[in-house]
Amino acid sequence: MPQRRKQEALNARLDHRSPLVFDTRELGRRPGALKRLTRSIDAPVDLGIEMIGVRKGAAVELDLRLESVMEGVLVTGTARAPLTGECVRCLEPLRRELAADFQEMYSYSDADDRSRVADTGDDAEEEDTLFLEDDLFDLEPVLRDAVVLALPLQPVCREDCPGLCPECGARLADDPDHHHQEAVDIRWAALQGLAETVQDGEKDNAPRDSGDDPQEK
Ligand SMILES: [Zn+2]
Ligand SMILES: [Zn+2]
Repeated sequence: MPQRRKQEALNARLDHRSPLVFDTRELGRRPGALKRLTRSIDAPVDLGIEMIGVRKGAAVELDLRLESVMEGVLVTGTARAPLTGECVRCLEPLRRELAADFQEMYSYSDADDRSRVADTGDDAEEEDTLFLEDDLFDLEPVLRDAVVLALPLQPVCREDCPGLCPECGARLADDPDHHHQEAVDIRWAALQGLAETVQDGEKDNAPRDSGDDPQEK
């Protein structure tokens, strides 16, 4: 059973001292048993995406509800943590509070052996199954998925952030009337000066005809 070996490798050596490993022993295996718990942990590294996430070591408040069901332990919970990142428009640092909800089923390994007999060849689902190991479960993969799903896709410092000036990169929120004498304008000014010179020489021409023969001075 290659899947089984793979899962065991993934779950290998859960350490009950790890901040994201939880013990379900007190809950017991009687279906319907409930246990609530809270835990404050230091955020593991890379909790988020490049633009925004929970900084390593930031306080993550976990609020969990463990429910014993026939096939394992259903874990429902919320993670709250400070988010830091930068505005996608103006690149200013920003801070948010993240609240990420999650729900995950951790199956008893032996229950899984039984269901495997009935469940033939549904490989995709098998790989998503998480298992209890010695009554322990590892919340880390669930927490990571929940945090990434709860992140704002396009974090902005404020909804109407005007972003950066495309010409010079100045922050437009600091300088809303900011504009440039564009390079194109400078060239036009030179041409206009030339046109006026031409007009001076050919006073009977309409102003718009002056561009027809710019060499003539
Ligand atoms: Zn911004
Ligand atoms: Zn500018």
